[in-house]
Amino acid sequence: MKGRAIIEESDRYLMRTYDRFPIVLKKGRGIKVWDVDGKEYLDFTGGIAVNIVGHCHPNVVRAIQRQAEQLLHVSNLYHIEPQTSLARLLCTNSFAEKAFFCNSGAEANEAAIKLARKYAKECYGADRFEIITALNSFHGRTLAAVTATGQEKFQKGFEPLMPGFRYVPFGDADAIEGAITKNTSAVMLEPIQGEGGIIIPGEDYLKKVREICDKHKLLLILDEVQTGIGRTGRLFAYEHYGITPDIMTLAKGLGGGAPIGAMLTTEEVSSAFRPGNHASTFGGNPLVSAAAIATLETVLGDGILDHCNKMGTYIIKRLAQIRDYYPEQVVDIRGKGLFTALEINRDGMPVVKRCIERGALINCTAGNILRFMPPLTVEEGDIDHLVSVLKRVMG
Ligand SMILES: *Cc1c(COP(=O)(O)O)cnc(C)c1O
Repeated sequence: MKGRAIIEESDRYLMRTYDRFPIVLKKGRGIKVWDVDGKEYLDFTGGIAVNIVGHCHPNVVRAIQRQAEQLLHVSNLYHIEPQTSLARLLCTNSFAEKAFFCNSGAEANEAAIKLARKYAKECYGADRFEIITALNSFHGRTLAAVTATGQEKFQKGFEPLMPGFRYVPFGDADAIEGAITKNTSAVMLEPIQGEGGIIIPGEDYLKKVREICDKHKLLLILDEVQTGIGRTGRLFAYEHYGITPDIMTLAKGLGGGAPIGAMLTTEEVSSAFRPGNHASTFGGNPLVSAAAIATLETVLGDGILDHCNKMGTYIIKRLAQIRDYYPEQVVDIRGKGLFTALEINRDGMPVVKRCIERGALINCTAGNILRFMPPLTVEEGDIDHLVSVLKRVMG
């Protein structure tokens, strides 16, 4: 088998930062992927919320092909047409007025943290630098982002961490107000915690947080790296809650598979960054910007968000049948759009492994939470297939 040889070589030459499943994926179309030995899988992991319009969507592939023939990369010392078009598309479809591009979610959050500090120091004084974040959050692996991440398991061994962060329980607006000091500059949250287990806060949480931020002159940073680009059934998750943030970060689904991150903000807040303050060599280069434009236009067109909401309702309905089958195992079913989870009362990893053997790629997060983040183009038949696999492997 080809796969086995590649896995042996991976083990030999790659750093062991991932505990990988023993399959080697080679090709993808829509929700389907194939391994090097020809086995087919339905991908309900979606590259961890990246393949938002499915694998190798023709619009994205064509945009990359065309751009690759034209211009792959030029420096941000010059103007880049696809980057400008992407910024316009993001700003005209969100609260934002200005965009900065980078290469990943962690980098987008780094940019947000730097901007929040700079803005608050300039407006209110040098001692305004602290950022309040949530316990059980996830903001990435760079040193500032991993410090913002309110989970010790990601921080252990990398101390000393960045100074200037405080943690509060997620979903509790009063806890935020209680954690504010004379040093606080911003509050940074995921609208729905992803890595933490698809934790959906109460309906009025973000509204209350927005009010607290306004009252105390704090910036509200929303990390929409996982929830953005249609995942929850709206283009951005904040739209569900009747508020807007001051800064929003994006990555994962933004490039439809191309590595790109973005930090979006208002004209007013963006003014704290002046030439030379922040930069990225690759950020928003022609190739990834072209991929992101094609991805966004696809998500915004063709009723895909409506479809996402319909399929989100359908998957929850079908997962409820799993609960009827195994009431003793299922703790909770929850989701928004196609950001969905089945919480079980035991380690989820054996279920994930058995699903893979039976041709369904799913993810487990926070130990016992099975997470489903298929492309927004997923069909009822795909969900039926997933549910039949789950029924078999959980029995
Ligand atoms: C994945 C994720 C990140 C980190 O993104 P990278 O591209 O891996 O750096 C940050 N925030 C959230 C909410 C995420 O889900």
